Amino acid sequence: MKSLPQTSYLSDYLAPAQIIFGLKAKDKIQALEELLDVLAKQKLIKNKKLLLTRIIDRERLESTAIGHNVALPHARVDTGGDIAVAVGKSSAGIDFEAVDDKKVHVIILIVWNPSLPGLFNHLFAGLARFLRKDDFRRRLFAANNRTELYNVLSEVELRLPREDRIISRASLLKKLQTIEIKMRKAKGIQLKQLKEQAKLIREELDRALLDRYDRLMQRYGFAVAEMEDGVCQGCNINVATGMRSAIEGSNDIFICENCGKFLVASKKKKNK
Ligand SMILES: [Zn+2]
Repeated sequence: MKSLPQTSYLSDYLAPAQIIFGLKAKDKIQALEELLDVLAKQKLIKNKKLLLTRIIDRERLESTAIGHNVALPHARVDTGGDIAVAVGKSSAGIDFEAVDDKKVHVIILIVWNPSLPGLFNHLFAGLARFLRKDDFRRRLFAANNRTELYNVLSEVELRLPREDRIISRASLLKKLQTIEIKMRKAKGIQLKQLKEQAKLIREELDRALLDRYDRLMQRYGFAVAEMEDGVCQGCNINVATGMRSAIEGSNDIFICENCGKFLVASKKKKNK
């Protein structure tokens, strides 16, 4: 397994030729195909058909639209290289079934090599972190041409998330838990399908995160607890005020200071 460089930037993996400033696509599939064509033309990928299938399988599991009009469709396939990135901008916007129901205007498609499992985490965390900055998003959407868009994206630094919080992965980890709990009672075809879904999610989560998750699952039978009305449902203890407000309405994963389980925002709507 190769080791990752200490600091890297999105621009290490992105050239202006990998950016389509005006996507012609009207829907998600067309957009994915348009972006894969760019990667094929740059000789960064080989099997476009297989990649499209993998990316769509991943989208079915959970939309990769991460809010703020941005989507990060991805697949883990041996590309021959380390990672292949293509970016598309659509002025009309494309429906990606985003959690915030907003159309997607910037699509960053990522294909990464199984021999470099950490690279995707760095990339995902770096992008999610940058996209939270109002100033960065303003400049991203204000770019007037391909060069300007490339310059803004070049600022994105790839880095691992801080230990006390895992950015934008809460719903995915929760989904993994739901699937693996269902697997305990599933049989035959259903079990096979659940196993495939779990594998897909596991492939893109950080190793250290999964180790911790597996230890918790073994010990307690579950690893991810929701916070409801400021109380960790894993241990029934109040969450500290500062953390409580950070968790509410966020898709980040925190760690309960009391029971050590992963703590995520509750999906339930609060009364009033
Ligand atoms: Zn707890």
